[in-house]
Amino acid sequence: MQYPFSQDQLALAELTRDFMEREVVPVAAELDAKSDPRDCYSKDLVNKASRLGLRTLAVPEEFGGAGTDELTRTLVLWTGVQSELGIIKIMSQCWKVSNTIAKLGKGDARERWLKMFVEDHDCVVSILMTEPDAGSDNIYRQSDPNVGIRTTAVKDGDWYVINGAKRFNSLVGFSKIMLMYARTDPKAPLSEGTTCFILRGDQEGIRYGRIEDKMGWRLYPNGDSFYENVRVHKDDILGEVNGAYESMEAVNRGNAEIIACNTGLCRALFKVCLNHAKERIQGGKPIIEHPTIASMLADMLTDIEVAEQFMWRVAWGIDNDPTFNRRFTVQSKLISDRLGMRLVPKALDILGGVGVMRDFPSEKLIRDVITPWHGAGTDSLALLRIARTLEEPG
Ligand SMILES: Cc1cc2nc3c(=O)[nH]c(=O)nc-3n(C[C@H](O)[C@H](O)[C@H](O)COP(=O)(O)OP(=O)(O)OC[C@H]3O[C@@H](n4cnc5c(N)ncnc54)[C@H](O)[C@@H]3O)c2cc1C
Repeated sequence: MQYPFSQDQLALAELTRDFMEREVVPVAAELDAKSDPRDCYSKDLVNKASRLGLRTLAVPEEFGGAGTDELTRTLVLWTGVQSELGIIKIMSQCWKVSNTIAKLGKGDARERWLKMFVEDHDCVVSILMTEPDAGSDNIYRQSDPNVGIRTTAVKDGDWYVINGAKRFNSLVGFSKIMLMYARTDPKAPLSEGTTCFILRGDQEGIRYGRIEDKMGWRLYPNGDSFYENVRVHKDDILGEVNGAYESMEAVNRGNAEIIACNTGLCRALFKVCLNHAKERIQGGKPIIEHPTIASMLADMLTDIEVAEQFMWRVAWGIDNDPTFNRRFTVQSKLISDRLGMRLVPKALDILGGVGVMRDFPSEKLIRDVITPWHGAGTDSLALLRIARTLEEPG
């Protein structure tokens, strides 16, 4: 991987790889093939990963976690994804949410939520942002107050009352802790009128809808949920009232999560192609000895390694570089998306007919590779977000 990782970081990556290969890989295809998407979620594997300490990697040590940094978590995620995406992505969802609670939670509430999270090996978490009529609008924000999240939170003494509907959110229906983005000032633009609340998954007034039947990432389910007069105390606000976006941006300078998913999946696809090219004999010799095949493999590896080096720089920069520009995260995500788009046709070329057979590993990997292309905003939106920074210094 050619990045100066410490022995501790490499040991954690090896522990992850060993767990994934031993526990997850043997059952992944069977879980992926379940016809009811609800059955693709494995509580047992989540529990086992948690007992190894993977779920609480982002919780500060004072609250019972490992207190790892973004670079370490990116290495763990990238390593795990190369075996199977779903379970390790559930862990990284937990890192994102617990890290946000640790940084933005206030007083007793911070301790209460982190304790609940750390002590329960089955506790997974959701981020409730996307709605039926608000997807990209929550990422590429506009000044028009009518654009973006419609779910409202209305103040009632020390409480807020939440009403609305959410769509496509990861782990909804399985999560015990959820971060709800709701409008507290519907007359203000989204960035100035949205507050983030912490909810329990079993709160009165929450109703769960369908679990989406996705093409890829099937061990990591997404679902719909509905909120009718759900009451949240003001202590359970993360950051400031009407300041959800501003607080998030102040404490989190992005993360390399989707980038690690993309590059990890591409590494896995490359390995499948390389092994196949060494074993498959055509024209009287292994196909890797045909210059066209060797050159496609070299091209794949070069693209992967360029994307990975930018990813390590982004992950390190988030924690360590005061001059780090959030634009780098968007650019690195864009490059990792394009990596997938460039690799899939080459993989299908090298693998020939076997590439699309359901019992061959590339079939699931290709479904998984194309699943997050919209994640954290589509590529066309990423370019618009980068364009918004063209006038910024540096
Ligand atoms: C696997 C998966 C996991 C997810 N996890 C979560 C989660 O945990 N929490 C959560 O809240 N959501 C989650 N989502 C939802 C995801 O964030 C949205 O799907 C994503 O933001 C895109 O929104 P959309 O699907 O509504 O696309 P749309 O917004 O409908 O976009 C469609 C097209 O229109 C373009 N477009 C939109 N607006 C503009 C504009 N202003 N200018 C130019 N072009 C524009 C887009 O770029 C895109 O090309 C998840 C989705 C999936 C599939």
